[in-house]
Amino acid sequence: MALTRFQQYIDGRFEDGQRTFESIDPATEVAWAEMPAANADDVDRAVKAAERTLSDGEWAGLTATQRGKLLYRLGDLLEDNAQRLGEIETRDTGKIIRETAGQIRYMAQYYRYFAGLADKLEGRHLPIDKPDMDVTLQRVPIGVVAAVVPWNSQFMLSAVKLGPALAAGCPVVLKASEDGPAPLLEFARLVHEAGFPPGVVNIITGFGEDCGKPLTSHPRVSRVAFTGGPDTARHIVRNTAENLAHTTLELGGKSPVVVFDDVDLDSATNAIVAGIFAASGQSCVAGSRLVVHRSIKDALVERLAAKAREIRIGDPGDMETEMGPLATAGQREHIENVLERSTKAGAKIVCGGKRPDGVERGFYFEPTIVDCDGATSPSAVEELFGPVLSVLSFDDEDEAVAIANDTDYGLASGVFTRDLARSHRMVKRINAGIVWVNTYRAVSPMAPFGGHGLSGLGREGGAETVLEYTRTKAVWVRTSDDPIPDPFVMR
Ligand code: NAD
Repeated sequence: MALTRFQQYIDGRFEDGQRTFESIDPATEVAWAEMPAANADDVDRAVKAAERTLSDGEWAGLTATQRGKLLYRLGDLLEDNAQRLGEIETRDTGKIIRETAGQIRYMAQYYRYFAGLADKLEGRHLPIDKPDMDVTLQRVPIGVVAAVVPWNSQFMLSAVKLGPALAAGCPVVLKASEDGPAPLLEFARLVHEAGFPPGVVNIITGFGEDCGKPLTSHPRVSRVAFTGGPDTARHIVRNTAENLAHTTLELGGKSPVVVFDDVDLDSATNAIVAGIFAASGQSCVAGSRLVVHRSIKDALVERLAAKAREIRIGDPGDMETEMGPLATAGQREHIENVLERSTKAGAKIVCGGKRPDGVERGFYFEPTIVDCDGATSPSAVEELFGPVLSVLSFDDEDEAVAIANDTDYGLASGVFTRDLARSHRMVKRINAGIVWVNTYRAVSPMAPFGGHGLSGLGREGGAETVLEYTRTKAVWVRTSDDPIPDPFVMR
């Protein structure tokens, strides 16, 4: 079968890579596309093209409102092309079409939100402590942005970087993951059609050492916006020791979902299932630790297991499918390895825990629930990035908080209770960047997103994020016409 060829997008031109690699369809394990593997030369050309736009008239000369208009146009194009791009994302990553097309359609809102902020960035006038001096602070683009993203939710993870960067006037070099890069390379065609001047948005893909490293350490990059795993984040920090670029790191999670004994069990079951099994669990905010009151543990786990067993696993391109394959073979091996260590440590598999019977091809793995009570289970500590829910129980609120906060991560969390006062106490005490109360996995361009500890540094989303793509310039103007006195004459 002939491979579909994708191109990289540098300085407004679509080009083949000097070297290429094959992308595997996770549902069939067969190579379906050929991707350009960007190297240090490509990175350098992309960064220099981006840098040029900071001073040439075409991009730098646009008003902020005109920049916003381009972003609006990009949002509209994304909406119009959501189904087609969703099909490409599904093919290249295994994420089900129900999720990809819907998420891409919603991403139009992200671009529109940031479009609206483009001309709301204001400087200010300082009441300076010197006579005859006028001092203003201008907000200017921070410079060239390197945006590095993983394969999962790649439209959202790139929208929260491209949106504020472009609104603030920064050109971007976006690096798609080497796993499943096709949808973002295709997205470059929409950027082109929207009419961004050449060099403002460059989209490449490639491997960590050959492409990610030269990009994030490039001397002309001023800001690195990274999403990925904590190990790669440590490389990013080392890389940015070279260029001293401002950096945000959006990393993984081991997010607790705390369920008290006063909830509606069916409703909580639906939220927990969506929190862990959507995107086959390959989500940074996956609610992977269920922390449940001991009195309802058996009843809740029984309901969850019944739902998990019903999930329709299959072709991710079929609208009826509820769970697709994992994105890579390595991802599945990692999950199998953690589960093996967990059962050796005494954790018990309630359901799943294996590849589905009778499925010969594809990186499929069953929705899995693991009872970790009484065991020091790695599955309750390490990020699996897969459809695995680890269950722990508590007797009182203090214990619930202690278990929820017993993690090196700090990204998301959920609390389920009908007790209003208790929900507020839990919000205060849970140590995470996001707390969802009686809901899970809701996102919006308006709400900042991010964590601390191994979950990273900084926030993405919300109006303030645009400021992070600017720096201030203090402008001093002497307003007196008197001659400047000789500095070497003592008075
Ligand atoms: P990863 O860290 O392996 O890769 C992410 C990106 O970094 C890829 O584009 C990769 O090519 C690049 N990269 C790799 N080595 C590099 C280097 N030395 N220098 C520069 N770039 C390099 O992540 P992954 O395994 O593809 O994705 C899964 C991880 O992402 C999980 O830990 C998940 O939790 C996290 N994630 C976080 C969020 C969030 O917003 N907090 C969202 C989604 C995923």
